[in-house]
Amino acid sequence: MTSKPLSAEYRTGKVYVCKLAHGGDLLDGITSFCKEKKIKMAAVSAIGALSAATVAYYDQKKRVYREITFKGHFEILALTGNVSLKDGSPLCHAHVLCGDGKGRVFGGHLLRGCAVFACELTVIVLKGKPLERGYDEATGLPLWRE
Ligand code: ZN
Repeated sequence: MTSKPLSAEYRTGKVYVCKLAHGGDLLDGITSFCKEKKIKMAAVSAIGALSAATVAYYDQKKRVYREITFKGHFEILALTGNVSLKDGSPLCHAHVLCGDGKGRVFGGHLLRGCAVFACELTVIVLKGKPLERGYDEATGLPLWRE
């Protein structure tokens, strides 16, 4: 079953860079920053380091997120994602790629539970009608809707 693609067009607004607080939660830090700046739609990216990592993998058959917790110290090799609205509030959906001391790489869907050791965040504000997330029948995920 396929559904037709949904797209929207934006102009870029302000571009912020932010050094997130040491010891804070990565996802909460991004969300708080967006709420503080009243950002409803944005592209986000980051690099840095974590002193704990929690990500998720979406089980497409069971339609549940499986949480994966990693203990240790990691580099944030890449974080990429977006901000849009869910229930009227900005929601950051991001995926993170982490590296350990042996150069091994892992990652997943960003969850709360990633402790910031250091993080340099870039937020590109998108100006236009923000997209809202809602339950998507085909995937069971809160995806963008018309
Ligand atoms: Zn995801």
